[in-house]
Amino acid sequence: MTEIPARIRNFIDGQFLEPIGSKYLDNIEPATGKPYSQVPDSDTRDVDLAVAAAEKAFHDWSNKPAAERSRFLLRIADLIERDLEKFSRAESIDTGKPISLARTLDIPRAVANFRFFATAILHTESEAHITDNVAFNYTLRQPRGIAGLISPWNLPLYLLSWKIAPAIAVGNTAIAKPSELTPMTAYMLCEIAREAGLPNGVLNVVHGTGPNVGAAITAHPKINTISFTGGTVTGRKVAEACAPLFKKVSLELGGKNPNIIFADADLDTAIAGSVRSSFANQGQVCLCGSRVFVERSAYKDFVDRFIDKASQLKIGDPLDEKTDQGAIVNKTQLDKIKFYVDLAQKEGGKITLGGSPSRPPNERCREGYFFPPTVITGLLVSCRTNREEIFGPVVTITPFDNEEEVIAYANDCDYGLASSVWTQNLSRAHRVAEQINTGTVWVNCWLLRDLRVPFGGMKQSGVGREGGEEALRFFTEPKNVCIAK
Ligand code: NAD
Repeated sequence: MTEIPARIRNFIDGQFLEPIGSKYLDNIEPATGKPYSQVPDSDTRDVDLAVAAAEKAFHDWSNKPAAERSRFLLRIADLIERDLEKFSRAESIDTGKPISLARTLDIPRAVANFRFFATAILHTESEAHITDNVAFNYTLRQPRGIAGLISPWNLPLYLLSWKIAPAIAVGNTAIAKPSELTPMTAYMLCEIAREAGLPNGVLNVVHGTGPNVGAAITAHPKINTISFTGGTVTGRKVAEACAPLFKKVSLELGGKNPNIIFADADLDTAIAGSVRSSFANQGQVCLCGSRVFVERSAYKDFVDRFIDKASQLKIGDPLDEKTDQGAIVNKTQLDKIKFYVDLAQKEGGKITLGGSPSRPPNERCREGYFFPPTVITGLLVSCRTNREEIFGPVVTITPFDNEEEVIAYANDCDYGLASSVWTQNLSRAHRVAEQINTGTVWVNCWLLRDLRVPFGGMKQSGVGREGGEEALRFFTEPKNVCIAK
C-alpha cells in the first residue's frame, strides 16, 4: 500500500479514476489548517459511471455463495488490520483526532464491522409459516441491488464500513460517498479491496460534495437503497429526494444526548465516564453526552471533580501519542462552536471551563483549529444551547431534584439518539431507561457496543436502525413464496 497520496481518485469498477470533470477540492488537515492532499470534486457523470459498474457486477456477486462473499470481507478485515498504523495515521491527519483514538477505536472498529457481517451472513435463519392445512409460506431475503452509502466526517472509516460491510455481505453492490472533508481512509479501503481481490464493481467510491455527489446518489433511479449518516438538516434533504422514488432509506442523524448522574452513582466511575462521553474526539461523536444532569445533592462535588478531570485532558498535535484532545474538523465547525459558546453566555450561562479557542499546541499546528473542553452551567433546560446540536467539546451541566424531573429534562429535546444513566439502584436504572426516548440507553457506561444490537435514533435523530439483524434486513428485500398443499 502506498503512503498518503497527494491526490486521491475515485474507485469505480475496480479502477482508480480521475473525476470526469477533472476538478478537485483541497483536503485540509485540521491540525494545521493547510491542504495536505486533494480529493475529486466529482459530479453526476461519475455517479452514473459507478452505477453502470455496480449494475454490471450485481448478478455475479449476488449469486455467489455466502461463504465466498464472506471470505472477501474477512480478507478485507485482515488487510486493514495489517495496515492499522497507516490507517490510524491517515485518519488522524484527515480528521484531527488523536492518533491514539484512531488506533484504538476507529480502525479496529472498521475491522470488526467487516468481520461481524462476514460471519453474520453464515448464520442467518429463514422463516416458514404454515397456513393451517392448505399451504406453507417461506420467506426469501434477497439483495436489493445497488446501495448508496453516504457518511459524515467524524468517524469516517468506522461509519462507512458499518454500511459497506452489511450491504455487500448480503449480495448488493455499493456506491459509497465519504465526507469530502475526510476522504482518505475510504480511499485506502479501496486499495485494500483491490488487494483482497473483491470483484470489480462490487464496491465503488465516488468522492465529492454533498450537493454534487450525495444528491446524485439519492436521486439516481437505479440506486434503490440509501443508508445515510449525517446531520438532521441534510437527512431531511435525503428523505425528500428519496420519497418520490420510494427508495428504502435509513437515516442516522444528529443528537443532543442526555447524561444523567444520580447521587447514588459510583461518582468516580461516573465522572471518568462522563468526561469521556463529553469530550471524546473533541465532542464530535454523535453519541457524546452533551447535556449533563446531576442530582442536586451531588451536583457541586460532581462539577468540581468533573472540571478538574476535564482540565487535565492534554490538547495537542493529533499525531502526538500523548494527545487527548486533537483538532476540530474545520473552520466552519470551529466557528459554530464559538457561536454556541457566545449564545450560551447571552442565554445566562456561566463558562466554568474553557470557552475560547486554545493556543496552538506547537509550531506545526500554528494555524490549526483547536478548542478546549468547555463546561457551561446555569442554563435553563429549554434554552437553545441545550436544544441544538453543537458537535464540539462543549457540555452544559444542570442540577435536578428527582427522577421524574430529570426524565422530563432528558426528553425535552427534538433529538433522541442516545443517553447515559449513572446509578447503583438497579430498579431505578430499569425504570429510567424505559422512559427515556432515545434509541440507546447506557447504564453505568458509554459507547459500549455489541454489533448485534439495533442501533439508531428516535425523533429527529433518525429513521430506521442499523446493526446486526436490522442491517441484514435493511439491505435485503423479503419475498414470500406461498405454496398450496
Ligand atoms: P452532513 O449532514 O453535513 O454530511 C453528511 C454526508 O452527507 C456528507 O458525506 C455530505 O457530503 C453529504 N451530503 C451533504 N449534502 C447532501 C445532500 N444534499 N444529499 C446527499 N448527501 C449530502 O454531516 P456532517 O457534518 O458530515 O456530520 C456531522 C453530523 O452527523 C452530526 O449531526 C452528527 O450528529 C451526525 N452523525 C450521526 C451519527 C449517527 O449514527 N446518528 C453518526 C455520526 C454523525
